Amino acid sequence: MRAVNVFLAIAIALAAASPAFAAKPKVVILATGGTIAGAQAAGQDAGYKSGSFKVEDLIKAVPNLGELADISGEQVVNIGSQDMNNEVWLKLAKRVNEVLAQSDVDAVVITHGTDTMEETGYFLSLVTHSDKPVVMVGSMRPATATSADGPANIYNAVSVAVHPKARGRGVLVLLNDEIHYAREATKTNTTQLDTFKSPNRGKAGMTNAGRVYWYDPLATRYTSHSVFSVDKLNELPRVEIVYAYANVGRDFIDACVKLGCTGIVLAGVGDGNATESAVAGLRDAVKKGVAVVRSSRTNSGITDRNVELNDDELGTLASMELNPQKARVLLMLGLTKTSDAKQLQEYFYQY
Ligand code: ASP
Repeated sequence: MRAVNVFLAIAIALAAASPAFAAKPKVVILATGGTIAGAQAAGQDAGYKSGSFKVEDLIKAVPNLGELADISGEQVVNIGSQDMNNEVWLKLAKRVNEVLAQSDVDAVVITHGTDTMEETGYFLSLVTHSDKPVVMVGSMRPATATSADGPANIYNAVSVAVHPKARGRGVLVLLNDEIHYAREATKTNTTQLDTFKSPNRGKAGMTNAGRVYWYDPLATRYTSHSVFSVDKLNELPRVEIVYAYANVGRDFIDACVKLGCTGIVLAGVGDGNATESAVAGLRDAVKKGVAVVRSSRTNSGITDRNVELNDDELGTLASMELNPQKARVLLMLGLTKTSDAKQLQEYFYQY
């Protein structure tokens, strides 16, 4: 009898120690739409509709996903990310914080269109207050396409989300076997699978069939170290982007001021430059209390203070490494805390 008990105890101990019995991490997939959930009307059609499939369909389409984690899915919205807006950002961010606060949840994966993924990801990296991994995933081909890239991307995204070294890295973007920091990533190609690049500080890592390889951590402030919060926010300040080009005038800048914008981001030529007329418009906007950030349409590099334009004299701010669409995100959040130009500039140095 005693020998049987000992045998049973050993068997139970061995079973508990075996990976097959170990508790799997719990990952919640929050779905928002995009091409990853897109469907073509027919066969090899180039046309398709984003956000056609639901989260359950996306999960079902990934073989062996359940071996990586206990997966549950939740549909937050189902839109093409070209339709992403401030309201959805606030809703999504609040939900991400709620889900990550659950002690039994280990990570969140967000399916999202690629068009504005970098903006949503950067927004979340500033207002998510947890060290648990958040991985944004999309695809360039719709779910019905030949060689749809969505299922492999989701598999890799979950592999990254459950990887022990993903914690504390902030919000990540996964596509095409590449891991990017949301702060760094930018969409650079209309249709190709390797569309995301991190032109300034480089990639966060690589994946291959579920294996994960990490590169350097991000040195800026994010998630647990961010001062920004959506907890008490129901809307965001109005900040618009004005694009610079040869011969651009000041009309759109003046229009932004008239419309009551709290902030303007200049997608400047080169190092955040624009015509004399546009710069005069920006100077007047600052005088009327609008926060003006100079960024660059070049898609890489640093737009620093006082190079060809004198920010000290104009009262303008410099976006540093942030491209115009991300500078808009930081300026909106910055303006929820202060209108002081020095403090706002400080945010652009730190985040
Ligand atoms: N227009 C799509 C979207 O952003 C493109 C994609 O997901 O790749 O939702």
